[in-house]
Amino acid sequence: LFLFGTVSAAVIAYLWSGPTFNPESLKGAKVLVTGASTGIGEQIAYHYARLGAQIVITARRENVLKEVVKKCEDLGAQKALYIAADMANPTDVDRVVEFAEKKLGGLDYLVLNHIGPSPYRMWDGDMDHIRWLMQVNFYSYLQMTVKALPALEKSKGSVVVVSSMLGKMCSPYALPYIATKFALNGFFGSLEHELVMKQSNVSISICILGLIDTESAIEKVKGYIDMAPYPAHEAAWNIIKTGALRQSESTYPSYVYFGMLFRDWFPTHRDMVIRGIYNYKP
Ligand code: NDP
Repeated sequence: LFLFGTVSAAVIAYLWSGPTFNPESLKGAKVLVTGASTGIGEQIAYHYARLGAQIVITARRENVLKEVVKKCEDLGAQKALYIAADMANPTDVDRVVEFAEKKLGGLDYLVLNHIGPSPYRMWDGDMDHIRWLMQVNFYSYLQMTVKALPALEKSKGSVVVVSSMLGKMCSPYALPYIATKFALNGFFGSLEHELVMKQSNVSISICILGLIDTESAIEKVKGYIDMAPYPAHEAAWNIIKTGALRQSESTYPSYVYFGMLFRDWFPTHRDMVIRGIYNYKP
């Protein structure tokens, strides 16, 4: 019985652990990171830099990108470049991918992380904002992927999509944002099926995050939720690992995994719990 228990535990531990991450594999990797002027994207850029990757970062604010590039160089990036672009503009979206492929001589990782600013409050019926946010948070992700696929196919590369638990569970206060994240999870999860069926070289990874301590997120949820956020640098490390291991999906922190696992077991109680988390005074 003891032997059986030990062997079972070893098998479960082996299956649970999965492949191991080799940081050395990212030395010299050609990476494009979007939304890298602040928050999680900035931390992703610093991790790749420490690992000796070649990176192109993008966002709208050129002065901030310049500083991030400088820090990436100091941290050990083989190459660090920036291109200022607005993802609301489809011409800019293509320009970014072209720039990265030209300057890096190809592409191994396309890390899609940017989000446009969106109010945190009950939905006011603003359709123009939803259309604009869909372009920034969703259509631009698709357009970049289409543009980068030939280069990624050549390099056996990866598309890494940064998403949210709010793209898996319905919640109040951020409806336009939540709609874009549900769209991302649905599209990229389905694209992964098609790429595998076509025996493509390209992997798709979707990273599902809980509340992370970036300035913009904390500012938004202040007064609405009393919940401890997790560190952006750890979320960023998890995202990099997920891409390098070509995992189709990852969750960070662990409560996200369990939240998704039990999501549909008791829907009525789940919805009561979700509404109970948020402060609301009519
Ligand atoms: P931030 O608001 O800190 O960063 C957003 C980034 O996107 C910035 O670099 C910003 O730079 C850029 N950006 C904004 N608008 C545009 C635009 N129109 N065109 C190009 N770039 C733009 O976000 P976080 O770091 O908090 O979030 C990063 C990712 O993590 C997102 O995908 C988010 O959904 C996800 N996530 C975050 C959570 C959190 O709690 N923080 C929780 C779950 C998921 P600039 O202003 O210079 O353009």
